[in-house]
Amino acid sequence: KAKSNGRNGYVIYDPILKESYKDKLTLKMDIEKALENDEFMLYYQPQVDIKNGNIIGVEALIRWMHREKGMIYPDKFIPIAEETGLISKIGEWVLREACSQVKKWQNSNLPLIKVSVNLSVQQFLKSDLTEVIKDILSKTEIDPKYLELEITESMAMEVDYAIKILKELRNLGVRVSIDDFGTGYSSLSYLKKFSINYLKIDKSFVWDIMNDESDANIVGTIISMAHNLGLEVIAEGVEDKDQLKFLQQGNCNFVQGYFFSRPICAEDFQREFYNLQREFKKKIK
Ligand code: C2E
Ligand code: MG
Ligand code: MG
Ligand code: MG
Repeated sequence: KAKSNGRNGYVIYDPILKESYKDKLTLKMDIEKALENDEFMLYYQPQVDIKNGNIIGVEALIRWMHREKGMIYPDKFIPIAEETGLISKIGEWVLREACSQVKKWQNSNLPLIKVSVNLSVQQFLKSDLTEVIKDILSKTEIDPKYLELEITESMAMEVDYAIKILKELRNLGVRVSIDDFGTGYSSLSYLKKFSINYLKIDKSFVWDIMNDESDANIVGTIISMAHNLGLEVIAEGVEDKDQLKFLQQGNCNFVQGYFFSRPICAEDFQREFYNLQREFKKKIK
């Protein structure tokens, strides 16, 4: 089971990677090459309305299609990209790619859905963030409300700065969610001041809902607190029916997880959209 990878989903460097990247410099150079050679790819995981099974959006999740090593997951290169400053370039590529993909879907036979993009710390702190996003929105011609940015609690620790940037983003018309919620130290009083739309409950809480009473209580509390603040809640890492039922009873708004679908490539998503949605509608009953 995926959980054996650890509570936060962190996978230990696999031996092959560890062997070939004894030093960070080699990895850094390889990431630079990967950017030039277009080796990054976005996978998309559906986000589902818990009440009717509709697909309301997708989360874009980056993968590195390495020529020799195969697919490499973000936990293995995003931290180094962060450390070496390469994350800004990668992050900008992700935003452009995700927005142009959502535009393509909107021009196809799919209903209008949004795309969520994970922001890195560096991206969030860079002074040109809103300008970059504004530019991407206008070039890809998507309505801003179909772009959602995911930040983590730790990014919002610099409270005054976060309030300012989140306001700017809100003014652009994009939506913002707090990812991995519950693992950081957000204070309720700050949450109220942030211009955000959603809380995403971290998967470590969802996994233990059925076995750990305190995790179940935490999830219930997060949901009602979020609703009191006028925010909607999305639960990530939903892997089975029992977890879904618990979340339904707790009035959670949206769900995302392997129980519905793993992240898949854009072509598969577009081709399977209506089959997936039909399946989801059965699953939520
Ligand atoms: P995240 O944003 O919290 O994304 C959710 C992670 O949980 C994804 O892992 C997803 O594949 C996985 N997941 C979803 N449902 C389930 C489930 O039911 N069970 C289990 N075990 N896992 C599930 P992934 O794709 O490996 O991404 C890991 C993290 O890497 C992300 O966590 C995010 O923090 C970061 N990341 C991914 N793409 C990007 C990106 O484009 N930019 C930045 N800055 N970070 C990214
Ligand atoms: Mg995320
Ligand atoms: Mg998360
Ligand atoms: Mg995470």
